[in-house]
Amino acid sequence: MLGPLILAASRSDRMRRLVSAAPMTKPVVGRFIPGETVDQVIPVVAGLTDRGLEVTLDVVGEDITTRAQATAARDAYLRLIERLGPLGLGTRAEMSVKLSMFGQSLEGGHELALANVRPVVEAAAAIGTSVTLDAEDHTTLDSMFAVHGELRKDFPGTGCVIQAYLFRTEEDARRLAAGGSRVRLVKGAYKEPASVAHQDRAGIDKSYVRILRTLMEGAGYPMIGSHDPRLISVGQELARRAGRKLDEYEFQMLYGIRSEEHLRLAAQGHRMRVYTAYGTDWYGYFMRRLAEKPANLLFFVRSMITK
Ligand code: FAD
Repeated sequence: MLGPLILAASRSDRMRRLVSAAPMTKPVVGRFIPGETVDQVIPVVAGLTDRGLEVTLDVVGEDITTRAQATAARDAYLRLIERLGPLGLGTRAEMSVKLSMFGQSLEGGHELALANVRPVVEAAAAIGTSVTLDAEDHTTLDSMFAVHGELRKDFPGTGCVIQAYLFRTEEDARRLAAGGSRVRLVKGAYKEPASVAHQDRAGIDKSYVRILRTLMEGAGYPMIGSHDPRLISVGQELARRAGRKLDEYEFQMLYGIRSEEHLRLAAQGHRMRVYTAYGTDWYGYFMRRLAEKPANLLFFVRSMITK
């Protein structure tokens, strides 16, 4: 009930201004976004990798409106990669990008996003790591998959994200699994209409399991992006049945969510990657985290009242 309302607010400029400007927001945001600058996030990366975890880094931002912002997004990732290089982490620190931040929704956006993301993928490859393309709302996905296909011609390790709530995803999963791609499967975090997406939890979870089976039985590298204890167990069982070794798939969770579970899976020998977002334009990312668990909203409101 609250989730869809929060997701609608995540697209409102007025709410963005209100929430972003409130000084009391910062400590709550910090639970999910451990810094605004590359200087702040590098020690976080070191702390996570020292504890046996892997990371995927997201410079927050999306839905930009000018070409200059798209160029700035590209440059922010290039600066990040420059700083990661000397740490020598290789694939233990990869990048996640949203193509909307690289200009996808502007005029000529598909080509623009591809042109902006390519140097990031090249720079990542030069330090021995890769990039995963996040999945945004369903209207952007044909373009995202086309960019992914283009990038894989030169950088086959480029990954992409698919969303279990969308009806189209079972077919996307079959194609990507057959093509041997790295694929992160998530439930899906956007407000989507009933014409394209399951609306009920049970339907989404069943779809997740069917798609995960396809990925596990395929030729690619499945990345299980979920905090759901049941799906984590199902993922382990499907990997076992498909005869996959522990380094032939991985788990991924978001920074600040079920952190003890990150360590538990890593201690069992699993590859566990923490999606770590940082930057100043955190509004959209933050609101999706509130929508996933409305209890977060109560925590947020309480912290505003008690300040
Ligand atoms: P849920 O059933 O939502 O959660 C299971 C349990 O996890 C909850 O009971 C709760 O204990 C905990 N939990 C989950 N979310 C929260 C939260 N926000 N705050 C506190 N506790 C929480 N979505 C996209 O649409 N595109 C993407 O590219 C994308 N990338 C992602 C990358 C990663 C690594 C992960 C983990 C998620 C990503 N998502 C993405 C978000 C995803 O679609 C879901 O919205 C999100 O993961 C919540 O679903 P869940 O599978 O964790 O299950």
